This record gives sequence, structure tokens and C-alpha cells, in this order.
Amino acid sequence: MTCTDFLSKLTDYFDGQIDAALMVEVKTHIAECHHCEVVLDTTKQTIAFYKDSEVYEFSPELRDRMHNAIMKKCQPAK
Ligand SMILES: [Zn+2]
Repeated sequence: MTCTDFLSKLTDYFDGQIDAALMVEVKTHIAECHHCEVVLDTTKQTIAFYKDSEVYEFSPELRDRMHNAIMKKCQPAK
């Protein structure tokens, strides 16, 4: 699983729409990739915040912002 794969599954992960095999891949990736681990933590906190205020919605903007941030950090070292 790459960072891009991980990000594309992130909403499914939080929606509980992810199957067991994929969940294993996600967890494996997080264990190996610190950046995605941070993204996951940040997303969890964001969702917790929005759930509290009852306006939970995983907006495309939020997703894009996270995607851009993580892809910047995960650029292969040259
Ligand atoms: Zn990653």
C-alpha cells in the first residue's frame, strides 16, 4: 500500500466501510509510514471535534488539504 492508496481508503476507514483484509494493509502502512500515522491521528481528532458539534462531514476540501499535505511530506528522497 502506498500513501496515495492509504489516503484513498481513509474515508472508508472512518466510515467503517473497509473490509478486514484492507484494514490489515492500512494498519501495516501506518506502522511503516509516520506521515500517514500523523494524518490518521489528525483526522481522528478532526472527526471527534466535528462529531461534538454535530456537523460531522468529511468534506472534499478537508480531504484535498490532507492529501496535499501528506503528498508533500512523502516525496521520495532525492
Ligand atoms: Zn504513507
